[in-house]
Amino acid sequence: MTATSNQHSDCLFCSIATGKIDADIVKQNDDVIAFRDINPQAEMHVLVVPKRHFGDVVHVAKAEPELLAQLVTFADEVASELADGQFRFIFNCGPNAGQSVFHVHGHVLGGQRLGWTPA
Ligand code: 5GP
Ligand code: ZN
Repeated sequence: MTATSNQHSDCLFCSIATGKIDADIVKQNDDVIAFRDINPQAEMHVLVVPKRHFGDVVHVAKAEPELLAQLVTFADEVASELADGQFRFIFNCGPNAGQSVFHVHGHVLGGQRLGWTPA
């Protein structure tokens, strides 16, 4: 399967992954793209996204654990390149947990001393 197969035409992050919609891209390879969140919640707020469509991180973990590992590595690289290498990595799973885009994405937050108000 190629990196951009399995796209959903009505999915915002599929459209960013294929270049149909612009984003402030900070890093990408064949499988993963990282771009700045449009509504940043920290000095550094980047979304790390597989280019292929998965609904949430649980689907990635079950179907392709090595891709999940790649997302974590990507987050680490983004945090080192844009900030001091320290970061929080959040996956919201389901609307009650705050998920609003149903194409898996990890929020990489850092670049400052972070607070902790998780709920
Ligand atoms: P969720 O709420 O699903 O965990 O996170 C979705 C994130 O996507 C939010 O933080 C939101 O600000 C971000 N977002 C929504 N639409 C866009 C967009 O068009 N471009 C970018 N770069 N980020 C977006
Ligand atoms: Zn998608």
